[in-house]
Amino acid sequence: MRAQARLDTGPELALRRKLHALGLRYSLQTRPEPDLRRTVDVVFRSARVAVEVRGCFWHACPKHGSAPKTHAEWWMEKFRRNKARDRETVRWLTARGWKVIVVWEHDDPGRSARLIQRAVAAGRGKGLSEALRGREPEG
Ligand SMILES: [Zn+2]
Repeated sequence: MRAQARLDTGPELALRRKLHALGLRYSLQTRPEPDLRRTVDVVFRSARVAVEVRGCFWHACPKHGSAPKTHAEWWMEKFRRNKARDRETVRWLTARGWKVIVVWEHDDPGRSARLIQRAVAAGRGKGLSEALRGREPEG
């Protein structure tokens, strides 16, 4: 139930609609690689592009993030942990040759989708040229 609720957040749905309209196909809420112990929102496996959709509140967006006045310290700690986890995921994936795109709730979904489209095209192109040279992609 929780996972389902998470899937249907507004910003993520808006982005997915735009990606779909551009003809892009992707996996949702999946582990990009089996030994990454968490899931990523939108994954283009063959192009090695991972998209994280971040809510301004939960991920303490630099533009709109602010801790509620009550239990402020508890919230600050919660946000600190969320941000640390976000950074860790990006670092992990980048080290393995993934392109990580972070989409904020406040970003225009159409613009984000076009950015992702370009990254996916570039990622596929890279995979193809490596295949043509007869070697495995690095990482
Ligand atoms: Zn924001």
